[in-house]
Amino acid sequence: MGDYFGPTQRLYLETQVDWEALLGLSRGAPVDVDAEVGAYRSILETTARLAQSFETDARKHWSEEATLTDDGGATSPPHIRRAYDQLREAGLICLTVGEAYGGYGLPTLLNGIVIEMIARADPSLMMVIGLQTGAANDIEKFGSEELKKKWLPRFTSGEVEGCMDLTEPQAGSDLGGITTRATDLPDGSVKVDGQKIFISNGGGEVHLVLARDDDGYDKSRGSTRGLSLVLVPRHQEDGSLNGVRVTRLERKLGIHGSATCEMLFDGAIGWRLGQKGQGFQAMLELMNAARLGVASQALGLADAALSDAIEYAWQRKQFGKPIAEQPLVRSMLAKMVVNAEAVRALLYHTYTLLDLNNAREKALARDSLSAAERSEIQQDFDRDTTRVRLFTPLCKYFATEVCDDLSRDALQVFGGIGFTMDSNAGKYHADSLIMTIYEGTSEIQASFALKEIGKGALGVVFHEIRGELAEMENDAVRARLAKRVTEMTQRVEQSLAILFSDPAYALLRAKLMAQMVIDVAAATELLHQVGADPARIDVAESFIMRRFLETEHASRRIEENAEGRLERDARVLARASG
Ligand SMILES: Cc1cc2nc3c(=O)[nH]c(=O)nc-3n(C[C@H](O)[C@H](O)[C@H](O)COP(=O)(O)OP(=O)(O)OC[C@H]3O[C@@H](n4cnc5c(N)ncnc54)[C@H](O)[C@@H]3O)c2cc1C
Repeated sequence: MGDYFGPTQRLYLETQVDWEALLGLSRGAPVDVDAEVGAYRSILETTARLAQSFETDARKHWSEEATLTDDGGATSPPHIRRAYDQLREAGLICLTVGEAYGGYGLPTLLNGIVIEMIARADPSLMMVIGLQTGAANDIEKFGSEELKKKWLPRFTSGEVEGCMDLTEPQAGSDLGGITTRATDLPDGSVKVDGQKIFISNGGGEVHLVLARDDDGYDKSRGSTRGLSLVLVPRHQEDGSLNGVRVTRLERKLGIHGSATCEMLFDGAIGWRLGQKGQGFQAMLELMNAARLGVASQALGLADAALSDAIEYAWQRKQFGKPIAEQPLVRSMLAKMVVNAEAVRALLYHTYTLLDLNNAREKALARDSLSAAERSEIQQDFDRDTTRVRLFTPLCKYFATEVCDDLSRDALQVFGGIGFTMDSNAGKYHADSLIMTIYEGTSEIQASFALKEIGKGALGVVFHEIRGELAEMENDAVRARLAKRVTEMTQRVEQSLAILFSDPAYALLRAKLMAQMVIDVAAATELLHQVGADPARIDVAESFIMRRFLETEHASRRIEENAEGRLERDARVLARASG
């Protein structure tokens, strides 16, 4: 069993993030960086130790499911409650919430690493912790001061849990289909009526519900305009129930310990977060954070599968030697390691950009900046907003697809035992299956990325990447690989020119395009890591050599297979549909 606080996590904590610049921007005053980083290290060490201690219980009770409670709620199985209580006692709940409300104001990178560690031990427990933080952050960003004071200390102490309620039977990927109704009441509160499905942690006290405003209800139907985000507690002020009920629990293929609830809102009273009619924008903030959260969850789960597969491959002997020494198995394991590291590189890079922008936002809110400083910070902020907007769906797409493939390969490494419950490989793969679906499916993430590319994001991203690669070309260790990655950027742009001449064909190729951009960005970040630790060259080289050829292949598929492709697919499907 590998260390939960691994070398790449330490690398980012110690060398890859310029904490002095980031904390300086955020606080606007001198910061004792060593003390801050020391505190971060201590949080990560405590989380790693605790998470590792949950592992045995999580595997043993993997199939245990949530249950309904008498008061119309739902509760997770006992092993999840025990682990939650320990995290709560250690103060490891809602870490990104500001200190004014009892949190640590922890950077998102560190929170991402915490989530990854918890998910490695138990992806179901991560659902509780991840939604808890996500809901609290949204309240902090969009809630009135009164709502923040009322709820956030209860979130950071772990007293209440949260969830996000978007999906309805007819509104899955397309949230324009939402019919749950939000009606204004004279005292400024909002009455919520409707049904939601698949709500993770739906037994939690605080629901953030996306609902359609009663004013203009018919006019806005079918679109994401006219929606409000409403904070709806399960109980009223006097402790009585508030018209929120779990009507059913889903039975699932994996993440059994996470309660997946059908919810009924029947005259439930809540309070708006953000502006009336702007709920989709407020929910987008939560969804983007949740997408990165699911990417961290997938990475943690991938680590669990990888660690078990490597350990088993050294123990299991066939033909007189460990199977880890058979070239086919060794290469499969090496590919798993490299892909997990590439996911980690892109994800940590994205978190770092997000943290910088959160710090810039705080700096821009201060009056003490000169006009020149303000203009420079604003420019950097705008550039990195574009980068984060493109990287967020790419992280979710890449991490969850890699987790799916990697956990399947781990099962293969275990041979027959992998298909039985005597190993944990099947559990990992079963848990991985949901990750390419919730928080927006892989197809939706690829389409979002394409939309951002269409708005010009790739130009901004590639401008930065090319500058970074050009600097690496002066460095003997990285020059050859940096050149290859620069060539990959050219191939991507060639393919893009073809795609943008035909929007329907572009949608068909959204996943190929997403993967090509991911490969360039992850490769560049892996090369940055080599700059800090030259021993990482083999991982970077393995990824780049493989992905260089894949990029060539993908771009030829886009260029040479364009003619008549959409129509041919339609004919093939028409025949199969009878
Ligand atoms: C265990 C679990 C937990 C969940 N937790 C939550 C939660 O906490 N809160 C919440 O609100 N929801 C939650 N969900 C719901 C989840 O987010 C949705 O299931 C998901 O967004 C997909 O919606 P859908 O199931 O309706 O699929 P559909 O939207 O019907 O999609 C079906 C298929 O069509 C594809 N597709 C649809 N539209 C397009 C398009 N435009 N282009 C390309 N392909 C497309 C999809 O990619 C998918 O492959 C959860 C679901 C599960 C199973």
